[in-house]
Amino acid sequence: MEKIRMSVPLVEMDGDEMTRILWKEIKEKLILPFVDLKTEYYDLGLLNRNATKDQVTKDSAYATLKYGVAVKCATITPNRQRMEEYPELTEMWRSPNATIRGIMGGTVFRTPIVVRGIRPVVSCWEQPITVARHAYGDIYKAVELRTDEPGECRLVFTGESGKTQELVVEKTDGPAVFLGQHNLERSIRDFARSCFQYALDLKQDLWFSTKDTISKIYDGAFKEIFEQEFEAYKDRFAEAGIEYFYTLIDDAVARVIRSKGGFIWAIKNYDGDVMSDMISTAFGSLAMMTSVLVTPDGKYEFEAAHGTVTRHYYRYLKGEKTSTNSVATIFAWSGALRKRGELDQIPELMAFADRLEKACIDTIEGGTVTGDLYRMMENTDGVTSVGTEEFLDAVTEKLRG
Ligand code: NAP
Ligand code: MG
Repeated sequence: MEKIRMSVPLVEMDGDEMTRILWKEIKEKLILPFVDLKTEYYDLGLLNRNATKDQVTKDSAYATLKYGVAVKCATITPNRQRMEEYPELTEMWRSPNATIRGIMGGTVFRTPIVVRGIRPVVSCWEQPITVARHAYGDIYKAVELRTDEPGECRLVFTGESGKTQELVVEKTDGPAVFLGQHNLERSIRDFARSCFQYALDLKQDLWFSTKDTISKIYDGAFKEIFEQEFEAYKDRFAEAGIEYFYTLIDDAVARVIRSKGGFIWAIKNYDGDVMSDMISTAFGSLAMMTSVLVTPDGKYEFEAAHGTVTRHYYRYLKGEKTSTNSVATIFAWSGALRKRGELDQIPELMAFADRLEKACIDTIEGGTVTGDLYRMMENTDGVTSVGTEEFLDAVTEKLRG
């Protein structure tokens, strides 16, 4: 069988622990036999990040801006415990995802992978719901203050021109707490454009919700900026037969629960943090969730939403049997290959990505699943829980037809 040719390389970001094991297996079993794979390889494994003083992470993000599409393996974000585990670390390196987002900007879109046999907790959901989370500012970059006597708190802005704007936050008659948060117009515009672009890619409606009835200026700005940016997408939305609509966050929550799914829900940073956990849990788990970072000018970084599955890795190192779900990592590869195919006009590559995803779904729906899915199934008659390797072998078999 002739392999599918690629013209432009994918940016390949390798990672850590169990997902690094999956990465190699996925490439060997599911990709290399079918695709004449071209990648520009960056080893984002913790030890190589350390050896390069994290330069490799930055280089991989710049390469993504250059080529347009990356596929990323899950990576360790070092914390104190990891510093003990890896004594050779010279620094507690930043989260690679944060570094990459910092360089690329954009929005993170997360979509559950839906399979027959695992019903969402919300019984009317028939199609996946994609959460688009703004990844900058608000309470994640806020300053906080706690006071212990009566007094007055003010909010003061001093412009570079010297002009100032000042507000009284509150005159308090006793101890109190205060919070100062911000967002940037530039970042909100990027957020809006990424969402409109992604809705066009998926040909799905875009919902956007904030609380602008209460936060008339702050959330009001989000609403207004989305409306302004939408002007440039209006015609393409009409052509694609999709809609953009804004509604209040509480109304949106009620509508999401009553919906059939099949749309993109754009939300602010905190709302996205909370609601994406709600949506992923209600659909199943993080192991069945795709995640992609999209910039407003259409650069893509595909990954799995889960981490490096450390506990399984230590079992693997001891030679014990593991049952790690590789679906989200496979879908990161298929998403990236499909996008490369789309950009480079290689229909065979796009078709291969579809077949690869179908092979995963068919394997699961055919009753061969990893342990995490077995535990979520409503009916396990005729379903077999298999190990990490056996699952990949079963997908390979389906893929070969
Ligand atoms: P995790 O790797 O997502 O795993 C948490 C637990 O969820 C696992 O122990 C496992 O439960 C279950 N799980 C997650 N993915 C699974 C899969 N594919 N198949 C089967 N079960 C799965 O999160 P963590 O243990 O909190 O973090 C581990 C490391 O990952 C950390 O160093 C963190 O920094 C990193 N991390 C990276 C990313 C990223 O690169 N995008 C994201 C999050 C975390 P059981 O053990 O009960 O089977
Ligand atoms: Mg969260």
